Amino acid sequence: MLPYARHEVDEEDIDAVVRALGAERLTSGPLVEAFERAVAAFTGAAHGAAVSSGTAALHAAYHALGLGPGDEVIVPAITFAATANAALYQGAIPVFADVCPDTLAIAPADAAAKITDRTRAIVAVDYAGQPADWDRLHAIAAGRGVDLIADSCHALGAAWRGRQVGGLAAATVFSFHPVKHVTTGEGGMVVTDDPDIAARVRRFRNHGIDLDAASRESRGVHAYSVVELGYNYRLADLNCALGLAQLGKLAKRLARRRALAALYDARLASLEEVNPLKRDERAEHAFHLYVVRLDARIDRDQVFAAMRARGIGVNVHYQPLHLHPLYRQRLGTRPGLCPEAERAYRSILSLPLFPAMTEADVELVVGTLGDSLAQARSGRVAAA
Ligand SMILES: *Cc1c(COP(=O)(O)O)cnc(C)c1O
Repeated sequence: MLPYARHEVDEEDIDAVVRALGAERLTSGPLVEAFERAVAAFTGAAHGAAVSSGTAALHAAYHALGLGPGDEVIVPAITFAATANAALYQGAIPVFADVCPDTLAIAPADAAAKITDRTRAIVAVDYAGQPADWDRLHAIAAGRGVDLIADSCHALGAAWRGRQVGGLAAATVFSFHPVKHVTTGEGGMVVTDDPDIAARVRRFRNHGIDLDAASRESRGVHAYSVVELGYNYRLADLNCALGLAQLGKLAKRLARRRALAALYDARLASLEEVNPLKRDERAEHAFHLYVVRLDARIDRDQVFAAMRARGIGVNVHYQPLHLHPLYRQRLGTRPGLCPEAERAYRSILSLPLFPAMTEADVELVVGTLGDSLAQARSGRVAAA
């Protein structure tokens, strides 16, 4: 099966982790700081705070920006569950905004329409690796006391009007899960230009303790205070060793993803019922995913099954969040709340995309998609 995503770990990565295993500190050591500095530098942000997952990074970012019980957080309906769940962890209320049908990024007008007196933040997802419309989001947030948070788990290496993702919101969140651009096994990071936000994330990842073990060590003191409720969201030095080695290969792998996406664009032009998502000329796309929308007359699930049966590991990103039982039960959400997201869901397909794919793999995917569409079409005729 050709998967939709696949990580790459080479000898250099393995050597880096083995070296880290022999170091004096296995966690909270110098590799964590080095990885934080390297990711921050790559994105142009002033600070990075590493945590144990992208989900933990969202939770820590929401906490650092002061989201608490009863606060409303606007999130797009098309995203991974963590974007909304991290609000629930804080006792805050996720409010689902619809998406733009052509990019599947949060629709700024719907986000604006959903602002109330209790809205504290808008979280935009740089869906598939293409930045959301940060110009309009800033225009909406400005003057309303609403913070902007970037869930950029798809978009390490992307840019908006020449500015790297990482400097577009008050806090930006990355994931280092193996399907993402850079992996640490599990891991995540909050990057920000605000030193207070970075400090709050670091305290939150360490039980809300004011002085971490390294600071106590260097000051020769044993005492510390738990000043707020935090978690153990630390990322180990082992993971950071892998992340640092991976980061060195990011530029090359981004270029490879972009080249493969361009090849998909060219080959898919001949398939009338297949529409790649729209590219925004203001954005530099990081291509975590290559997502297409199928013509409304095509049964996506039939194409999905036909491709899987032929060894092509297509996927669907994502089911609209507000239709999951958790949010229906807790928040009373229901069909019709975000019609563009619901319509898009019936037509989207993520095609395999990862740097180790070959041109022949792309040809195979496109050929198989053509065959699967023909099969779905004839199935429709047979059913009629
Ligand atoms: C991957 C991802 C997350 C969560 O990251 P984990 O590291 O798996 O916890 C959150 N949001 C989006 C959009 C993601 O793609």
